[in-house]
Amino acid sequence: MNKLWSDGLGRLDPYVPGEQPRGAPLIKLNTNENPYPPSPAVRAALKGAANADLRLYPDPEGAALKAVIAQMHGLLPAHVFLGNGSDEVLAHVFRALLMHPLPILFPDVTYSFYPVYCALFGIAFEAVPLDAGFNVRVEDYARPNGGIVLPNPNAPTGIAIGLPQLRDLLKQNPGSVVVVDEAYVDFGADSAVSQVLDYANLLVIQTLSKSRSLAGLRVGFAIGDAGLIEALNIVKGSFNSYPLGRLALAGAEAALLDTAHFEATRRQVMASRDALTQDLQQLGFEVLPSSANFVFARHARFSGRDLQQQLRERGILVRHFAKPRIDEFLRISIGTAGECEALVRALRDVLAQAATSAA
Ligand code: PMP
Repeated sequence: MNKLWSDGLGRLDPYVPGEQPRGAPLIKLNTNENPYPPSPAVRAALKGAANADLRLYPDPEGAALKAVIAQMHGLLPAHVFLGNGSDEVLAHVFRALLMHPLPILFPDVTYSFYPVYCALFGIAFEAVPLDAGFNVRVEDYARPNGGIVLPNPNAPTGIAIGLPQLRDLLKQNPGSVVVVDEAYVDFGADSAVSQVLDYANLLVIQTLSKSRSLAGLRVGFAIGDAGLIEALNIVKGSFNSYPLGRLALAGAEAALLDTAHFEATRRQVMASRDALTQDLQQLGFEVLPSSANFVFARHARFSGRDLQQQLRERGILVRHFAKPRIDEFLRISIGTAGECEALVRALRDVLAQAATSAA
């Protein structure tokens, strides 16, 4: 705390992103990045945009990128909002659409940035418990609320709900904004984008960080009714008129247009996920059914923290959350086939060593 700080700032507890190691070569399975490089068309677009025009501000509307996104989904640019990563889009959503007298609702086990935004903007929330199998039960959200935020698939569990359940949730809550955070949707869940023309209270958020391999470029977007997008534009225009630079706009457009690269890489990730799930089960892990580019797994005999440390000693980073209900779990991002095999070898080694020292 410092007297020069704004009132209450010392009470904020910021989000802590996963480690980005410098130096030693580690296998990075801790922040759900894509193990494959972005489309070669992205590099070409970035080179093309790295020219004298960088002296000029970018298009504040990002009109060309919005048009590409709108066209992909048969929608209008007025249904699209762009931001500097979906984290920034989410921040604007909390400010523009979720500040109401009633508390907002999100699962007790979910993306840990949501309570951080609530603290930043002074929004009350209620954490709705997932069931014993870590599933979202939409009927639990049928109660007065100031809005609902749901990642689908959920993070860090990886478990998705289907469109029928999502439609039930929207129908149960016609007076609230339902935000569906689809950061991981391309790895096997059903997108709610097809529903935005039918439900004026639905806002879908996506990112290029995961399935388009562009975490480093920082591009996210929201899709929804033009009335919701208008609210987001008011907040954006009160915060930063140019959230996406010229390079980000050009690279994002190229990535979205290369559907062949997108299909091939996401299929490889899903195949590796299914293979890794089987390998982990053989090693005695319980693995939650994942529709994302990570798995959430716990071992009957080893604590999550111990395993994370032992893997780190063997050069492999995975994520552990010291939080209620999930303290025993590891969240493991899906790497290349080779990286997944290295992880399984390291785990085998950890378990074998533990067996010898117990003998
Ligand atoms: N939503 C969820 C559920 C996430 O896990 C992440 C990644 N940490 C994000 C949003 C934000 O992703 P980005 O800002 O890179 O678009």
